[in-house]
Amino acid sequence: MLVVMDIGAGRARVERVVKRLEKAGFSVRRHTLGGALAAVITEGEEKGFDIRDLRAMDGVREVVLYGEPFPLSGRGRGSRTSVLRAGKVEIGGKEITLIAGPCAVESERQIFATAREVAAAGARFLRGGAFKPRTSPYSFQGLGEDGLRLLRAAADKCGLLAVTEVLDVSKVGLVEKYADVVQVGARSMQNFPLLREVGRLEKPVLLKRGSGATIEEMLFSAEYVLSGGCKKVILCERGIRGFDRAVRHALDFCGLLALRQTTRLPVIVDPSHACGVRTHVRSLAMAAIAAGADGVMVEVHPRPDEALSDAAQSLSFREFRALVEGCRGVAAAAGRKWPSSRRK
Ligand code: PEP
Ligand code: MN
Repeated sequence: MLVVMDIGAGRARVERVVKRLEKAGFSVRRHTLGGALAAVITEGEEKGFDIRDLRAMDGVREVVLYGEPFPLSGRGRGSRTSVLRAGKVEIGGKEITLIAGPCAVESERQIFATAREVAAAGARFLRGGAFKPRTSPYSFQGLGEDGLRLLRAAADKCGLLAVTEVLDVSKVGLVEKYADVVQVGARSMQNFPLLREVGRLEKPVLLKRGSGATIEEMLFSAEYVLSGGCKKVILCERGIRGFDRAVRHALDFCGLLALRQTTRLPVIVDPSHACGVRTHVRSLAMAAIAAGADGVMVEVHPRPDEALSDAAQSLSFREFRALVEGCRGVAAAAGRKWPSSRRK
């Protein structure tokens, strides 16, 4: 770490900064640059030290970190994305990950029909919420364990892996029992006790970006999960709240590129929750793959207009097939492999 002091900060201010650093366990060397400008160079563990406190100290002009701010999720010196495994399926490798299914599991008929459809289209993962984080407490909240059971059965029947959200620390064990990938939703991205609890899992954790969260906050949330011992975190950009009400959220492609540069973790994109309307989902999914996403997660429903949650953004089977065709072409152009259909 390099701490640059203001010209004329004075000995007392410099010494206050030195003392603070030493107290935090750093070893400090003082340098005088160009006469009065004092730079304090330190060696020690930067992880866990909140430099905002240092930046706020009287006389401090700038603090420069040399260390990796995200020791577990950061790219470090390696430039490659880590390839994770869920069952036999790789995430973050050459093949694009396609996760598809309804917003919520509603019935046996609904989830089995959707599972058949998405498996035929090449998806390796079936999504479906059993515990739904709804804005209104009066909206459909999900089927709970019955929903988990149905999701598991439909996934198994069609050779798919199951992705579902856990909302609550007390339900992590239950969700783990049924899911292959445990999702932490946008609203829970900074639920630190939940992050610590899913950090104990061996299964992959799909961490969605909060609609008001910065990239830095998202990566610190990933650090929470990884520091619990979990080795498999997948990040998901799903749109952030902008000022324009013409769309539900702004899908942050710049953030996606920043993540690509900063983290070694696979990054997927959820275009459904980003735009909130089905007409834009296909274009956004194609754009996400063109921009380097490792996968897409989309909401599909046999009768979208009757969906109990997120009806407006749910794709019909026909629209889903059109998305798959579009994405297949973009994946090829981007040098990625699109998952092959297993339709007989
Ligand atoms: C979801 O994927 O089911 C969901 C609720 O999304 P988000 O957490 O991104 O709103
Ligand atoms: Mn949804």
